[in-house]
Amino acid sequence: MSEPQAAPQTEAPLAFDLTLFPEPVLRKKAEPVTRFDAELAAFVEAMFATMIHSGGVGLAAPQVGVKTRVLVVSESGRREDGFALINPTILERSGPTTLYEEGCLSFPGIYAEVPRPDRCKVVAQDLSGNRFEKEYSGFVARIVQHEYDHLEGVLLVDRMSPADKLKNKVALQELVERFQRLQAGPGPGGGLPRRR
Ligand code: ZN
Repeated sequence: MSEPQAAPQTEAPLAFDLTLFPEPVLRKKAEPVTRFDAELAAFVEAMFATMIHSGGVGLAAPQVGVKTRVLVVSESGRREDGFALINPTILERSGPTTLYEEGCLSFPGIYAEVPRPDRCKVVAQDLSGNRFEKEYSGFVARIVQHEYDHLEGVLLVDRMSPADKLKNKVALQELVERFQRLQAGPGPGGGLPRRR
């Protein structure tokens, strides 16, 4: 039983445009969420929609241009397997460090082998603001650590070996040039349309 809603939400949550390297918001340390309300819940749903639309398994708020400490994860890429961490802090990383090829929605077409510990213990808040601790392992722990990096302004390019940087040199340069064209604005041969 619930009160009738003044404006029932029947549409699927809208997806955001992705923020791509080297847009400056990706380099900022994200700020804590202070309001746990319907707006936050809607924002998290829109982040899931963006992640799923883009074929990702994780997404952090700075990747949609929002400088807050929110991340979403779904190992399978499906909404029903997903969870959100609000104001997460990694308390402890443990286990063997493994190498695994990672991509990032802010670096389309770029992949690099990144070493990360197999387990991480996190304290975070849920959508209602309740604090909880949880330990993740394996692929989920890797996704959490990747998305957590985004909240600290740390990016895939920072975790790349020199060999992977060289391998991805052209693709990285293309992203920088795309950003420079966007900065220059529309005009003959100037700006690019946003994706979608
Ligand atoms: Zn990423």
